[in-house]
Amino acid sequence: MSAPTYPWGPTSLKRFLGQLLLQKVKYDLYVGTEAVEMTEKTENLIIIGGGPAGYTAALYASRANLDPLVIEGFQWGGQLQNTTDVENYPGYPEGIMGPEMMNEFRAQAERFGTRFVTDDASRVELSDGGLQRVFLGDEEHVAKTVILAMGAEPRRLGIPGELELGGRGVSTCGVCDGAFFKGQEVLVVGGGDSAMEDAMFIAKYASKLTIVHRRDEFRASKIMLERAQATENIEFKTPYVPEEFIAGEDGKLRAVRLRHADSGATEEMEVGGAFVAIGHIPRSELVAEQVEVDANGYVITEGGSTRTNLAGVFAIGDLVDHTYRQAVTAAGTGCMGALDAEWYLRDTPPSPEAHWYGKAGAAEAGGVAEVAEATASS
Ligand code: NAP
Repeated sequence: MSAPTYPWGPTSLKRFLGQLLLQKVKYDLYVGTEAVEMTEKTENLIIIGGGPAGYTAALYASRANLDPLVIEGFQWGGQLQNTTDVENYPGYPEGIMGPEMMNEFRAQAERFGTRFVTDDASRVELSDGGLQRVFLGDEEHVAKTVILAMGAEPRRLGIPGELELGGRGVSTCGVCDGAFFKGQEVLVVGGGDSAMEDAMFIAKYASKLTIVHRRDEFRASKIMLERAQATENIEFKTPYVPEEFIAGEDGKLRAVRLRHADSGATEEMEVGGAFVAIGHIPRSELVAEQVEVDANGYVITEGGSTRTNLAGVFAIGDLVDHTYRQAVTAAGTGCMGALDAEWYLRDTPPSPEAHWYGKAGAAEAGGVAEVAEATASS
């Protein structure tokens, strides 16, 4: 017969304490949101980005009691922060100013407990099925899931007057602003599908529309180009490069100075509106080395979902979308992202073995392993 072990004996006490510690670590990793041994706090969900997609994800996640943390960026609000009247977002029959709408999105998420950090994430360490790490300088935030919602920015010409006259005649969104130029002469810059699509939309309102492109050949698909060419009030002007947007006495756009790409000759064209449609740049530089992106830098998601190639990492909004790029479509994918994250947390909680610990975490991970070992061997 083996010697009896007493609950207060050294072996049992070690096992008991080991079990207790292991259970606590497991609980904190899988269930709890309180401080864990590895970090000060493991979040359920961190959302990176403060545009319509990010705030909608935050709204859904906070209503699902996930207590999300939003790293909203120093200039939160996304592209709508630089937009004046928004007339195509459902629910605002009188329209609303872009920044005000973003304020309301943010407030609605805050009402259900969303927390915000008004700063830019400087670095991430993404993992396939483990813990996700987001850094703001030296400050580290750890989460079981992360939603990427950094958006995209319109490519700019980089010429005088472009930014200064934004919202006063110069725009980067035909669908958003085309209707404001009813009966006016308007110019669209670009030779791709976006330029053709914008042109055809704006031409419904403008009296005359000129597509200005720097080459005689067009990148746009044949069908889109042909449709634009067949539109009665659309003209083409090539090869020309815009050099300056010029303000009138009222402070609004009056004219565009164009330079012939070959001869260098310049001329002024009087217009009421100018749309720059030369592509978008997804803001994926933070994650491009870690998550799958396409040739243009857009994060790739699994068809019909917001799941990326990394388990526990989701992507939404203009960071993913090179086709629609509307506030309402971004908000829609925000909802999808929050639901995907919620289902992931419910069905496949992160595995501590799978996660990228980084430098500090490696030692702490060893700590967990030691506890497990001690427990198993005692
Ligand atoms: P894009 O295909 O990259 O075309 C950008 C256009 O802007 C090109 O013609 C380019 O000229 C010109 N451009 C770029 N930088 C310029 C500069 N600094 N100055 C003057 N011109 C400049 O971009 P996109 O039109 O936004 O389309 C992006 C993707 O979305 C494409 O795959 C497109 O098919 C897709 N898309 C599809 C639809 C649709 O099917 N309904 C609608 C919109 C977009 P060069 O050609 O000389 O480089």
